Amino acid sequence: MTRAIVVGAGFGGLALGIRLQSAGVETVIVEARDAPGGCAAAREQDGFTFGIGPTAIADPAALRELWALSGRDMAEDVTLDPVEPFWRLSWPDGDSFDLTGDDARLVAEIARINPGDVAGYRDFLDYSAAVHAEGYEKLGQAAMLDLGAMARAAPALAKHEAWRSVHSIVAKFVKNERLREALSFQTLLIGGNPMTASAVHALIHKLERSGGLWFARGGISRMAAAMAAQFERVGGTIRLGDPAVRIDTLGDRATGVTTASGWQGEAEMVAANADVMHAYRDLLAGSRSAQRTGAGLARKRWSPSTFAVHFGIKGSWPGIPHHMVLFGPRYKGLLADIFDHGVLSRDQMIFLHHPTVTDPALAPPGHSVFAAMAPVPNLGKFPVDWAEIGPILEKRILDEVGRRLIPDIHERIVTKFTVTPADLARDLNAHLGSAFSLEPTLTQSAWFRVHNRDPHIPNLYFVGAGTHPGAGIPGVVAGAKVTAALMLEGGR
Ligand SMILES: Cc1cc2nc3c(=O)[nH]c(=O)nc-3n(C[C@H](O)[C@H](O)[C@H](O)COP(=O)(O)OP(=O)(O)OC[C@H]3O[C@@H](n4cnc5c(N)ncnc54)[C@H](O)[C@@H]3O)c2cc1C
Repeated sequence: MTRAIVVGAGFGGLALGIRLQSAGVETVIVEARDAPGGCAAAREQDGFTFGIGPTAIADPAALRELWALSGRDMAEDVTLDPVEPFWRLSWPDGDSFDLTGDDARLVAEIARINPGDVAGYRDFLDYSAAVHAEGYEKLGQAAMLDLGAMARAAPALAKHEAWRSVHSIVAKFVKNERLREALSFQTLLIGGNPMTASAVHALIHKLERSGGLWFARGGISRMAAAMAAQFERVGGTIRLGDPAVRIDTLGDRATGVTTASGWQGEAEMVAANADVMHAYRDLLAGSRSAQRTGAGLARKRWSPSTFAVHFGIKGSWPGIPHHMVLFGPRYKGLLADIFDHGVLSRDQMIFLHHPTVTDPALAPPGHSVFAAMAPVPNLGKFPVDWAEIGPILEKRILDEVGRRLIPDIHERIVTKFTVTPADLARDLNAHLGSAFSLEPTLTQSAWFRVHNRDPHIPNLYFVGAGTHPGAGIPGVVAGAKVTAALMLEGGR
């Protein structure tokens, strides 16, 4: 029986493990933390359940496939509840816009903001469907291992004007600046700047419209726990709380993995789900080719980080939906500060997560769970002392949520904590505390991204946010399918 070791039990590593083990490859997943799920970790505090990372799941069909491989039904392990509206967007003057999956309501919302943009929205939806078919269903399912694959994709990319940015393509279809923000901000959810990321990422709108947005009952970490249960059910082994310290190599072959506890696993194939920089620079310190790749990665653009204030409060808030974006006074300027200048601005864009409106059991009766997350620069250009700045930003963010939604927020808070870029760097070995790995620019995507198979060590594979097709749960789950296909082909 072929044996594989996967380093990391994020969504990417778990999806890969299930695919390999379901195909008969004896698979061990080695995970540094004491629970599976990577950035989708949960934290229990004072009777509240907080989710650290993702706040919703798109394309649940891709996850269901992982159960169907062994004739099981995902619903046996986890329940998904719809998130509706997908997002409520709110601007500082009190204006708001519900981005919903209900076509009639969405069109009514667009007409309320600018009746002249309804026809343009229809054209944008067609565009989004076309890039979804090309970018997600075709490109995202293919291994982009050589320039030939890129060349074959080029005509379609050219046809869809992939060199333009998401915001620029949205602007081609809709005229109202707020609607442009409403249809482009989603790029941030995969670590991209709407003003510069390739227009192909406009596919996210179609992904959400077609498959909906979902929350796992009990928190997104329950989805990861369900994946871990499915992996073990088909015969896989997970070693939790035992970080890999080395991917062992001999010449141009990976031979296994050594962990902090001294465990040494031998394998015919090794896959890294951990941060790609950590994998190349630290875990493959013994490989000269890997060190060269790591040096190259250090020169790339890394996506921003997030600063999150998680808080449990007294009271129920049925009027605040699962997801809100509280836009600040600036959009383009703020994005430039985060992505290009690398400086922490005074103004913020706040992603407000209110999971208890979907699943009240996450808080004690009569209480609610919230997370207010702001995209912030990573630790690259002008590293911030988060121990000093964190409390200041926390207050600023809570004040803003209070001003716009919950007037007596400070008196209502029962428990709270923050997660800073420095925490992401420490807890997940995330390079520069980046929340989404390599920035998904056109020149860091597809063939230009870390390959799903290393070009120099042919039995070493990669899965997760830093590899093709990219970050986000749908991205890493699709990437696991690509990597699994390569491994199953390589193992034969
Ligand atoms: C705040 C935030 C909000 C987000 N919101 C959404 C959302 O709503 N929807 C969405 O689809 N996506 C969202 N994302 C993005 C999405 O969650 C990620 O892109 C995706 O989960 C990444 O999965 P992964 O498998 O690549 O990596 P990770 O989740 O980073 O997992 C990697 C794993 O490797 C482990 N590891 C690291 N080093 C070692 C080592 N040496 N040995 C063993 N194990 C190691 C880590 O502990 C971790 O468990 C969000 C991300 C963040 C940070």
